[in-house]
Amino acid sequence: MQTITALIATSGLDKVDSRVLMQHVLGVSRAWLIAHGDEFLSEEQLVQFQSLIARRQSGEPVAYLVGYREFWGRDFRVTSDVLIPRPETELLIEEALARLPKEKPLNIIDIGTGSGCIAITLKLESPNWSVYGLDISAAALAVATQNAMQLKADVTWLENDLLNNLIRFGYLPKFDAIISNPPYIPQGDPHLSEGDLRFEPSSALTDFSDGLECYKHIANHGKDWLNPDGLILVEHGYDQGESVPKVFQNEDWIAHDISDYAGNPRICVAT
Ligand code: GLN
Repeated sequence: MQTITALIATSGLDKVDSRVLMQHVLGVSRAWLIAHGDEFLSEEQLVQFQSLIARRQSGEPVAYLVGYREFWGRDFRVTSDVLIPRPETELLIEEALARLPKEKPLNIIDIGTGSGCIAITLKLESPNWSVYGLDISAAALAVATQNAMQLKADVTWLENDLLNNLIRFGYLPKFDAIISNPPYIPQGDPHLSEGDLRFEPSSALTDFSDGLECYKHIANHGKDWLNPDGLILVEHGYDQGESVPKVFQNEDWIAHDISDYAGNPRICVAT
């Protein structure tokens, strides 16, 4: 019989993944694991751990196996109906908080909210803002709603395809900012059949076109929904640092690009 520490070390997985799965099975913190590493699992816990290890070995993302992912210091529930929040997306939050006055009662909309990680984080960091989270997927909005309840964030959810026909929701304000991490991988891109992406909803990853469709839509329809001095902040792929600003410039926005901490072009700012 192997100790907890030995099971983690010999699982054949990356050690962090293996430790996170063990924490999940036992419902304990990392500190607990370190202090109790020489203990043993019950039969039932061992079976559960081994089954999670096998699923991870066949490629399932750790976040889906344990049911959550940390984003901006908070745990967000995730299911296979939503994209797993990425650390790069925290830059979008950072830029929004740096550029938009916290004390003003701004109206902000997050397009393609998925798990709700962007909308909820913005609301919790700037409670004076009215935040709207929009997604075409009812299943994704169910996850976002649960996250908002769990984290006590008052966000208005809109089930809609981008900014089309928003009018049917009745009164909506003009927005001071549009924030979005839309699906931007071009159809047929080999990345779609690699790693975690194989398990994530394809409609959250690709626009089933050239990867620029959502930006074109926001560049075009954003004018109708933004205040004259409104701001657009969108995340994009590492290789879209020129194409995405161009989409906005073609629609007469002033646009420039910002790189992430890995040095990759990542966010386009348009005003
Ligand atoms: N807004 C969510 C996120 O950034 C979902 C994005 C998406 O599904 N494309 O994680």
